[in-house]
Amino acid sequence: MAKALFQNTIFQDEDKARKALEAVRWPDGPICPHCGNSDQEKIAKIEGKKHTHRPGLHYCNECKGQFTVTVGTVFERSKVPLTKWWMAAHLFNSGKNGVSAHEIHRSLGITYKTAWFMMHRLREAMSDTNAGPMGGEGQSIQADETYYGNSSKRSKGYRKGHRHKAGVVALVEPKGRARAFHVKTATAETVRNILVTNAHRTSELHTDESRLYVNVGGEFAAHKTVQHGWNQGGHYVGKDGQTTNAVENFFGNFKRSMKGTYRFCSEQHLQRYLTEFEFRHNNRSGLGITDGERTALAMKGIEGKRLTYRTTR
Ligand SMILES: [Zn+2]
Repeated sequence: MAKALFQNTIFQDEDKARKALEAVRWPDGPICPHCGNSDQEKIAKIEGKKHTHRPGLHYCNECKGQFTVTVGTVFERSKVPLTKWWMAAHLFNSGKNGVSAHEIHRSLGITYKTAWFMMHRLREAMSDTNAGPMGGEGQSIQADETYYGNSSKRSKGYRKGHRHKAGVVALVEPKGRARAFHVKTATAETVRNILVTNAHRTSELHTDESRLYVNVGGEFAAHKTVQHGWNQGGHYVGKDGQTTNAVENFFGNFKRSMKGTYRFCSEQHLQRYLTEFEFRHNNRSGLGITDGERTALAMKGIEGKRLTYRTTR
């Protein structure tokens, strides 16, 4: 682990960690979680020497309520100090492949169960950062499907064939965003539902020659195909510039990352891992986003998520 990680004060000082969270949650000043008041004239910081005052406590003149930055968020109930949340989010967002719950558990000195809980909350936070339809006029979207599953014959539950694997459909803007969806089976209907609800129909659709995309292709500005498995994963660009290289790379990276960091995840949790991978892809360093910015984005996404330990059991 990077030495700098432990030198950053938000990982050591609870007060600094809280202030950093205030900065990402409230860029324009505090907002009352009870009544939604954001008029800074009507919000006062409660300061004083009394030990009864929680640090970072605010008073809302509109509803006469009190609050801190964690009220109404998952941080409030978790009992995990904010310094550790920041550290987990940082470890999660440094590098390409994420981090296992086991590593978080060891690095942060918290139970495995708590580490697992924190990671899933962070994954959920990541799902809100990728809104709005993809593509648009003059842009292309690559769509493809793959199957993901336990490929080790020695592990429990191994079964041969696609039938026992989970389907994943992904949409990728070349050089842009990606979205990935866990589906039971990829059918013409499931891929159509995903495409029409996530992509601008003014986009050009690029796929392989799979019959799944034939009908929905007609609903887009254009539908261009490349031969499936051409050159066995080699890079292929059709005569009109169409390609599925970006979506194939996305799948390849996802599978490598899962193998390296998480070994295997059950089908039940697949969408969460896809969301995490998607977040990392959409906020990658190649787009000029730093580890620190990615970390702050994940922490910001937790706001308003009123989940507790109880609801996850
Ligand atoms: Zn209020």
